[in-house]
Amino acid sequence: MTLKSKTAVVTGSTSGIGLSIARAFAKEGASIVLNGFGAPEEVEKARKAIESEFGVKAIHSAADMTKPEEIAGMIRLAEETFGSVDILVNNAGIQFVSPIENFPVEKWDQIIAINLSSAFHAIRAALPGMKARKWGRIINTASAHSLVASPFKSAYVAAKHGIAGLTKTAALETATFGITVNCISPGYVWTPLVEKQIPDTMKARNMTKEQVINDVLLEAQPTKQFVTTEQVAALAVFLCTDAASQITGANLSMDGGWTAE
Ligand code: NAD
Repeated sequence: MTLKSKTAVVTGSTSGIGLSIARAFAKEGASIVLNGFGAPEEVEKARKAIESEFGVKAIHSAADMTKPEEIAGMIRLAEETFGSVDILVNNAGIQFVSPIENFPVEKWDQIIAINLSSAFHAIRAALPGMKARKWGRIINTASAHSLVASPFKSAYVAAKHGIAGLTKTAALETATFGITVNCISPGYVWTPLVEKQIPDTMKARNMTKEQVINDVLLEAQPTKQFVTTEQVAALAVFLCTDAASQITGANLSMDGGWTAE
């Protein structure tokens, strides 16, 4: 139980990678603040499962990651409930696939807000407490798209390259405070985010579902396998251990060799 007495806020943790990260932290004894959308009964089921399976406290914040004041409120709620925010995982994210000339302006704004600006707002709110306690772990879920581009994902690629830069800057500003700031850059992980982009990719590239999975998604990964949410979560847990205290400002790829090409 390496994270007993720590509190972790994981944005976008009602589904996919975020939920696996929250569960992995809970398994190590951390108190958990879940965040994200979803049917209330499903969210409550996930929250209760964390408490009963791992014997920790878990609460849910419905803060909308497009709203700076709600993001600050989520960090405040965590500090009031548990006394501190020791670990912050900026993970909430959405995707939209379209050629630039047809890309809806409101989708661009929404992706930049959720996938990039929300991390700035959450880090800004959590840092004073981390600095005062001289311990903190900030992990941003970036993407292989923080290092390389794909066509038709302009907003996503721009946001993910941005999060890689924000990670480095925050790491430099906090290096002497016992705080590390890193990003994890997964390749394709089978989650609702990937499943939902298949129909639009079929349209944009004029392909069948099988062609999108094999010729676009798995084509990118030399291993020809999807990354699992549990693998990403295990790396997040490692980044919170003492063994990882000198890893800061890093962009850690977990992409089956995608960005080695
Ligand atoms: P997902 O769709 O399963 O989960 C996304 C989460 O974000 C959900 O909990 C959702 O409710 C939440 N969310 C969306 N909009 C929100 C908002 N406005 N406010 C608060 N929460 C909001 O997706 P996932 O694949 O688990 O993605 C998680 C992160 O991992 C994202 O940042 C994504 O870009 C990144 N990522 C995913 C993959 C992949 O292949 N799945 C690869 C690389 C990076």
